[in-house]
Amino acid sequence: MILDKKDLEIVLSNLKSFENPKFELEQYSTPSDLAADLLWQAFMDGNIHNKVVVDLGCGTGILAFGASMLGAEIVYGFDVDNEALKTAEENLKRLKEIKIILKKIIFMKKDVSEVNKLCDTVIMNPPFGIQTHKADRPFLEKAFELSNFVYSIHSVNSGRYLKAFAEEHNFNAALIKKGKIILPPTMKFHTKSKYPINVEIWRFVRVQK
Ligand code: SAH
Repeated sequence: MILDKKDLEIVLSNLKSFENPKFELEQYSTPSDLAADLLWQAFMDGNIHNKVVVDLGCGTGILAFGASMLGAEIVYGFDVDNEALKTAEENLKRLKEIKIILKKIIFMKKDVSEVNKLCDTVIMNPPFGIQTHKADRPFLEKAFELSNFVYSIHSVNSGRYLKAFAEEHNFNAALIKKGKIILPPTMKFHTKSKYPINVEIWRFVRVQK
């Protein structure tokens, strides 16, 4: 088990990312520093160690592996894309080779709408809705259905919508930290090779009645 945020970030930075990112699925990897920020917060809140954790839209698995390294009892990663899941399995092999100790981690192909694994905590970096407007909504709705604690990454300035959406589902929303994700060029007018966009880590907690 890893018990230091910097160590976590270093191990995560060695994982393989999307080989051929599919823009329609908004496959942008979470950078290791941002992933470590999200995971460390969840860990410090007591929502990772010995918990059942679900990663919705796990992609190549960075958040799922991080949760596992921080002592999650079992982590389920769900994604629609076979190729991303294949890379996640390669990453699992790579971590075992360098003797990183993981408890149980299971990757499965599923559309987010079909996931029904109840859990303690959901972690996710869902599509932001850059390609399909409001693409993060089915992820948030599903996360609210599955658990009481949700840690998620959203594009900047989503605060008003996130708070209202959370409230509708009886959750409290809190901004944890700001960061950046580097997008590959996805539009015709994109001429540079990298587009940093500002993002935010949010925590959602079910309001107990
Ligand atoms: N969680 C990963 C990947 C983020 S990119 C990381 O942090 O690096 C968003 C991921 O959501 C992609 O892997 C994409 O394949 C997946 N995705 C997009 N639409 C989906 C859907 N409807 N159901 C399940 N996964 C989906």
